[in-house]
Amino acid sequence: MTEHSSIASRLTHVKDRIRDAAIRAGRAPDSVRLLPVSKTFGEEAIREALRVGEHRFGENKVQDIRAKHDLLTECDLEWVMIGHLQTNKAKDIARVAAEVQSLDRMELAIALDRRLQQEGRAIDVLVQIKTSSEPSKYGLPPEELSGFLRTLVHDTPTLRVRGLMTMAVNDANDQAVRACFRALRELRDRIQGEAIEGIELSRLSMGMSGDFEIAIEEGSTEVRIGTAIFGGRIYGDAPL
Ligand SMILES: *Cc1c(COP(=O)(O)O)cnc(C)c1O
Repeated sequence: MTEHSSIASRLTHVKDRIRDAAIRAGRAPDSVRLLPVSKTFGEEAIREALRVGEHRFGENKVQDIRAKHDLLTECDLEWVMIGHLQTNKAKDIARVAAEVQSLDRMELAIALDRRLQQEGRAIDVLVQIKTSSEPSKYGLPPEELSGFLRTLVHDTPTLRVRGLMTMAVNDANDQAVRACFRALRELRDRIQGEAIEGIELSRLSMGMSGDFEIAIEEGSTEVRIGTAIFGGRIYGDAPL
């Protein structure tokens, strides 16, 4: 990262790379959406992205979404939860999140739905699928998806299922990474073929800074990018 690079210029560069990857894959350049991931970055970084047109940000911790939502209320931003979500945090998410991409179990769906009903809201959700055997990765086992969706349709009316999300294995081997993305797309195609009433899985959220070009080749409709836009993360106290 040079001292001249700004969040604005890195955003432009990432968008160019997304477009190029889509075109190389024979896809429409606007068929892949960018979700900037602002986790660990504070108000200034988010305001800089906002100045160049970003209004929707991914975060992986409930307390950070809550803090940033409260800090930037006047900006009318959309907060997207992409991290592992504890059931006892459902209330905060129901209040401040525009969308959840990390829905991975029924207990959480029920808790979210109950809190959303209390808030009088409905939100879009993606079901996070475990596409690798890495123990650190969360997600619903692929073989459980069909039954999961059939239950969701009946039991959680405030959750509008829009697609699937995954994190690829953390591996230097592109083929292993690609296999995760391909597995997600094939799972989607298979379940779409079951034509479950009320379920439409048009969105595939897959690809991060290190692997988004592969994800686009495999059909991603949304890449979640942090480091390539905001720079390296320093963990510890959130710089709010
Ligand atoms: C942090 C995070 C990202 C972004 O990762 P980068 O490698 O910084 O682009 C994407 N998805 C999830 C679920 C994350 O937690």
